[in-house]
Amino acid sequence: MIDLLEESPGKLEKLINDLFAEIDDNEPDVQAYLELASSDELLKSTRELVDQPLKGIPGTIKDNIQTLGFKTTCGSKFLEDYDSVYDATVIKSLKEAGSPVLGKANMDEFAMGSSTENSYFQTTRNPHDLSRVPGGSSGGSAAAVAADEAVYALGSDTGGSVRHPAAFCGVVGMKPTYGLVSRYGLTAFASSLDQIGPITKDVYDSALLLNYLARHDEMDSTSAVKKTPDYTEGIDRGIEGLKVGLPKEYFGKELDSRIQEKAKKWRKTFENLGADVVEISLPNTEYAIATYYIIASSEASANLARFDGVRYTSRADTDSIEELFSRSRDEGFGPEVKRRILLGTYALSAGYYDEYYGKAQKARRLIKQDFDRAFENVDLIAAPTSPTPAFKIGEKIEDPLEMYLSDVFIVPVNLAGIPAMSMPGGKVNDLPVGMQIMGGSLAEKKILRAGYAFERNFED
Ligand code: GLN
Repeated sequence: MIDLLEESPGKLEKLINDLFAEIDDNEPDVQAYLELASSDELLKSTRELVDQPLKGIPGTIKDNIQTLGFKTTCGSKFLEDYDSVYDATVIKSLKEAGSPVLGKANMDEFAMGSSTENSYFQTTRNPHDLSRVPGGSSGGSAAAVAADEAVYALGSDTGGSVRHPAAFCGVVGMKPTYGLVSRYGLTAFASSLDQIGPITKDVYDSALLLNYLARHDEMDSTSAVKKTPDYTEGIDRGIEGLKVGLPKEYFGKELDSRIQEKAKKWRKTFENLGADVVEISLPNTEYAIATYYIIASSEASANLARFDGVRYTSRADTDSIEELFSRSRDEGFGPEVKRRILLGTYALSAGYYDEYYGKAQKARRLIKQDFDRAFENVDLIAAPTSPTPAFKIGEKIEDPLEMYLSDVFIVPVNLAGIPAMSMPGGKVNDLPVGMQIMGGSLAEKKILRAGYAFERNFED
């Protein structure tokens, strides 16, 4: 993107035409988009934007972010006809910076899933191998960027949904510190975990976008940071002398042996860059999946209560008010969303609250403490994003537990509220492998600096 920003305005027209040409060519296979802007209107609007910092370069938005002029379906039948009623704060910021919207990207229904197979509308395919999933839940966003159908995309990361598809599609996905990016206009899944983050082709673009995404917002009561830095400043300073930890729990038997091998090269690259690489331990990692799925489902069961057939959504055809609620929800939600609502309602119910939700909160604290302790000794933590490369469409969809297990290395970060970025870490059998760099609270600059150096020096 930066190349384009520095070149002549005429380039923008070409870029937009090229994007639509790629969309025409690839979209029948990849199916990343749920809705697209008209190319004529986009060309017209961008002409006035070339003097703005983002120069009229359009972005692709996950379909759970309110975007005027587009629907916000959340990948759900329930919201099939729901038109956005305002611009989310992130959309407002991007528009002000001169980036209009190219289209809305497919996703797992209400962002629940790790493969984008839970979308009511379509299954997005991995551009590297069309028989495989793009990861999830922001699979449409990552696939669009990987297939050159987007310059950049926004995703949301509640339990890895930016980093997981970025890893499977071979692109860069950043999950910022909780509270750094406004959630206003993001359909809530699990409010204590949700963060919006950029998906880009390279690390620099991720930093550039963060400059516009990270800002204080009165419309989000968890907005935590008053002043944000320039994330691109000093990105090329290198990482000599930084201490990078490799958590031994992330290199256990669930990790594909080919990724295990790849990680040796990651280590070498960090060492060549002058970093001090040490083994560390995050001992409570084994509780992360259970903790995450209890907390996220509990919050989801409360957040999704608003979809009742009365407001926002499609409505069952009946005269009985009780039937209206239950049938609308039965007809509107897909199987995975229903599973989460049931799980969450159960975990929060009287008699089970302490045993499940209360216990999960305690485990969350321990997981956070693991990171706090680790960051007393290291600057950054590097690990695989996912235990395997992209799996086949249909391979895990019948087995929810198997699907949940693919989140083992990404959910701890959300539970701890810290930032992490997944970036390309080579390929196995022509499939991308994601490497994740995690940092302490608000360590985005350090993560980006390390990623930028790694990107330039890693040889697969
Ligand atoms: N796989 C996670 C889940 O299904 C992803 C959630 C997310 O980050 N939106 O809950």
